[in-house]
Amino acid sequence: MTHKLYYEDSYMKSFSAKITKQAQDETGQWFVTLDQTAFYPTGGGQPHDTGTLNDTNVSNVEEIDGEIRHYIDSPFENLDSEIRGVIDWSRRFDHMQQHAGQHILSAAFEELLDFQTISFHLGTEVLTIDLETEQLTEEQARKAEERANEIILENRPIQPTWVSPEEAANYPLRKQLSVTEDIRLVIIPDYDYNGCGGTHPSTTSQVGSLKILDWERQKKKTRVQFVCGNRVLTQLGQKQKVLKALSPLLNAPEGDMVSATQKLLIAAKEKDKALEEAKEALLKYEAMELLQSGTQLNEQTVISNVFQNRTIQELQKLGRIITAEGPNCVAILVSENDDKLQLVCARGGNVSISMKKLIGELLPQINGKGGGNDSFAQGGGEAKILGQELLDRALKLLC
Ligand SMILES: [Zn+2]
Repeated sequence: MTHKLYYEDSYMKSFSAKITKQAQDETGQWFVTLDQTAFYPTGGGQPHDTGTLNDTNVSNVEEIDGEIRHYIDSPFENLDSEIRGVIDWSRRFDHMQQHAGQHILSAAFEELLDFQTISFHLGTEVLTIDLETEQLTEEQARKAEERANEIILENRPIQPTWVSPEEAANYPLRKQLSVTEDIRLVIIPDYDYNGCGGTHPSTTSQVGSLKILDWERQKKKTRVQFVCGNRVLTQLGQKQKVLKALSPLLNAPEGDMVSATQKLLIAAKEKDKALEEAKEALLKYEAMELLQSGTQLNEQTVISNVFQNRTIQELQKLGRIITAEGPNCVAILVSENDDKLQLVCARGGNVSISMKKLIGELLPQINGKGGGNDSFAQGGGEAKILGQELLDRALKLLC
């Protein structure tokens, strides 16, 4: 069994130890186990420490089958002499701040609102807790944050204590214990009593501060996103950078940014609408011009044209306007779009030729797909032939 120095002193940054085993895991990764270690292995929602053993990098620490594996980049040659371990203190202290902050916030939600924390995740940028509630209001979140920061400011002690199951039963525990032996309680007197195997600072003030960033409902629970300690400053810095960059773009001070953005969005919407109307008017004009270009074929006037890079929606609109204005017209409209051909066949009210049948004979010639009814049909396929060739074949079918 490895002696767990991080439980004796969570502030231990370096230590000496002897290697008790060196081996490779099933993926070929080298690891060592030590007679004692200050490296915290992944567990209880807290990520593992990183650091060095002599000059060798420790990239991961996991507790597997009762042994604490320190994963190293390359194996040690000399296993007999003492080695020196140094943990990445800024990473560890950050985890201690976040972890203790989570205890404090979870206890605040429980104390004020009776919302139980059902799970906890410590990510690289933010933390989340899942609360057993479907709803969390702005006011409730603000109150819990306020209470948590009050506890932090009061500089209360954070006391880890090993207890027997009988002793544990005497404490007002926030959550049912998940273990029945080696019970470790983390106690913030008169505030929070919780079973936990993680590392924490010795007082609440070292958490610095706590800020709830956001929350969202996830089925029957609410996931709350927050940060503690130095991460509050990191978040403030990132957000300030964004605001500072946005301010000149919106030509508005920070406090007016929301209304300035709303104004911009409304203006953009109005422009989109005006553009849509202008396009519509242009299509009508284009359709009128096409109507003048018709050629007589039996009883029908055939309006045909090959366009470049027009959408099927535009072709459809043109087809509808032409046939509405010209009841004796058949419109065959083709667009060449890169390696594709788009096609619309439409007929006026006095024409009896089936457009569905016509397009049904044309589309297989370009490996195309489409559909419609007897008066209006559309489709598209590969540009195996020129648009004009497709048009000519359509005209032949009309004869
Ligand atoms: Zn904890």
